[in-house]
Amino acid sequence: MTSDPFAHWQVPPVGLTGSPLDRADTVRRDPATAIALRSRPDARWLVMDDLKPVLRGDAILWAYRSDVPHDAVSVFLGLDGEAPRFAAAAPSAELVSDFGGRVVDARAAAAVLPPGQAAIIAHARALLDWHARHGFCARCGGKTEMKKAGYARVCLACATEHFPRVDPVVIMLAVKGDHALVGRQPGFPKRFYSALAGFVEPGESLEEAVARELFEEAGIRVSNVRYLASQPWPFPSSLMVAAFAEAEGYEITLDTDELEEARWVTKDDVRAALEGTGEWLAPPPLAIAHTLLKAWMG
Ligand SMILES: [Zn+2]
Repeated sequence: MTSDPFAHWQVPPVGLTGSPLDRADTVRRDPATAIALRSRPDARWLVMDDLKPVLRGDAILWAYRSDVPHDAVSVFLGLDGEAPRFAAAAPSAELVSDFGGRVVDARAAAAVLPPGQAAIIAHARALLDWHARHGFCARCGGKTEMKKAGYARVCLACATEHFPRVDPVVIMLAVKGDHALVGRQPGFPKRFYSALAGFVEPGESLEEAVARELFEEAGIRVSNVRYLASQPWPFPSSLMVAAFAEAEGYEITLDTDELEEARWVTKDDVRAALEGTGEWLAPPPLAIAHTLLKAWMG
């Protein structure tokens, strides 16, 4: 380990990051400002119909306030320069028929949009999905209502505040010598392999989660866990934390509930997989597993 904390792997671009919007926390904390922003002539809405964004061509269709139903759940995304940007959960029929909009699955949309716009889709999907699932208080069961322009809910019965959840998931490459470990979950498409991953549990660090998951799923003991990069993954509310870990040995013991197969691969294998010419398929650029594999390849 070098003494320079910035002398590290070169981190390639990470999908779903790089939003151009300023999240403008001061706006969110001031209800009057947040309401006034909705009336600005340059305010626009990203409409999500059943959590699917409305696009026009290969860009977000930014709708006017008059095109969004008054009773739609609407959250503040941020400022594009001075211009306020919101997201609303609303039907898309008029945007499709009158403005040439098309409703696209969020993951498919993120794959075709420029990176900054894909990041906006991820932000909006995570927040609107959280509101859709948290209408009632986890403490007392009372009804909740939105606060802070979409960044909190408050229980109308017991006044408990609830905040949007983010669930950390570690995703990691165990590395030994010239080999890295990839695996297949039973539901993966044919020939598709990725880095192993799992949810962080209460009471453990990210490093401990990496070590536990690799041992549980593949029987691999590791040390020297090193962080690479992270990514919001709004399906529904994950934060993917990518890391490398040094494996102690090569012997794999599979947990067949979690993995159908795991294998040690070389950098040449990974290069071929990323280029689409290998015997297995690697994750697409949108996924941080792609970033992780690319970073390991160097
Ligand atoms: Zn309550």
